[in-house]
Amino acid sequence: MTPKSPRAVANNISLVLNTMFGNDRFERGPVNVDEVALEYTKQISPSSHIEQIVGDDLPGCEGALVPGDTTPRRWAIMYDKKQNAGRRAYTVAHELGHFMLHRDLVDKDPDFDGGFHCTKEAVEHGAGRNIEKEANEFAATLLMPLDDYRRFIPSDQLADFSRLGEAAARYGVSLTAATLRWLEYTTSRAMVVASVDGFALWAKSSDAALKSGRFLRTKSDLFELPAASLAVSKLSRDESLEGIQQKAGVWFPEPTFEMCMRTDRYDFELTLLHFEGKAPAYQAEDDFQDSYTQFFRLGARA
Ligand SMILES: [Zn+2]
Repeated sequence: MTPKSPRAVANNISLVLNTMFGNDRFERGPVNVDEVALEYTKQISPSSHIEQIVGDDLPGCEGALVPGDTTPRRWAIMYDKKQNAGRRAYTVAHELGHFMLHRDLVDKDPDFDGGFHCTKEAVEHGAGRNIEKEANEFAATLLMPLDDYRRFIPSDQLADFSRLGEAAARYGVSLTAATLRWLEYTTSRAMVVASVDGFALWAKSSDAALKSGRFLRTKSDLFELPAASLAVSKLSRDESLEGIQQKAGVWFPEPTFEMCMRTDRYDFELTLLHFEGKAPAYQAEDDFQDSYTQFFRLGARA
């Protein structure tokens, strides 16, 4: 198998789904990822496709793509059954990504002769080997095609948690996944920070925010959220969700509009920051691309 672009492979599937269900298919529901995994792989690889999708207790593992012992290979996707529906869809899509992009490694690279076993960080953030990033990109592209997402939330519009929650429902994914995907294409300046007990687990900025120096970076210490931030303060859940204007100096040397999602459904807080206006002059930062991954790695150790 020659190396394939995760985006191109996912977009090919999206084209098939558009033909079958119409360009407005998301009006009627998210991608049925189980059906795609079982039926599409049978179409493209009749002798060696995904035959089963199985939920189980998978300690330390969010999902796996597992080959059978016989050749031609028979394949199964496994997922940790503790996940809610949105996380599960993303996990199955991630494993389908390994099948579409990497399955030949099972017979070529001894590291993979037991298949692909993916941690939560790999599935959610593409952390680890490059193939994890690729499977993550495949999953995001398949479940949240940008042409549809741009129609739903135009590129130049800021989106609050209620709009991003609607996107999460539209695509059948978690609020986190929908927010991360939006940050990939929006031309507005925005940033999301995930935290527990006032300490950041990871943060991600939109391109325009990055280029104007609006990103969080950690070196050796965990990043502690500002004392005035909603995640740390005692504002009610509704007030936090609605958001407040923060003065220059709280987060960055410019005012920000801050919203925070704190619910029992999530084991962490998500903070969304909106910055006004377009990006100021580009500030060169050689390593800002790495700050996202670096950041949450640090968090994962905590
Ligand atoms: Zn993986």
